[in-house]
Amino acid sequence: MDDCIFCKIVKGEVPSFKVYEDDRVYAFADINPISEGHTLIIPKAHAENLGEISDEDLVAIHRVSKKMYHAMQKTLGAGGIALVQANGRAVNQVVMHYHLHLIPRKDSQPRLAATQWDLVPGDMDTIKAVSAKIAAALGH
Ligand code: 5GP
Ligand code: ZN
Repeated sequence: MDDCIFCKIVKGEVPSFKVYEDDRVYAFADINPISEGHTLIIPKAHAENLGEISDEDLVAIHRVSKKMYHAMQKTLGAGGIALVQANGRAVNQVVMHYHLHLIPRKDSQPRLAATQWDLVPGDMDTIKAVSAKIAAALGH
């Protein structure tokens, strides 16, 4: 896609700090890191979101995320690593080219907001009805 910033990064038209590359996947440092080592893994082929990405690229990205997990633990001494992936503007997807965030955090750092919420029990009838709707859409 001509006007996509991440496609331009893949093509080398926009500079990036490359961390990993193979036939399908490109990984590079986020330039607005929320922790040291914040990295993005993307498919080389443009896909906007989880609905569009090919199964093969999705698998390739998650295989790389596992390699990256070990590399980050070894080099950064991360106490935890969050994988965050947004689909759509309602959940703050800003760059409309699929990307998986890897966000390492040290035990001494404050918890990542995206992984911390208050556990407030929901209404069981609503939970049941909504999960039944999703299951039906999946054919279960
Ligand atoms: P989103 O909110 O879409 O999940 O996150 C997009 C991410 O892309 C942000 O964390 C932002 O810092 C990063 N980003 C946006 N433009 C660039 C860029 O030109 N280079 C790099 N390395 N990261 C970018
Ligand atoms: Zn793109």
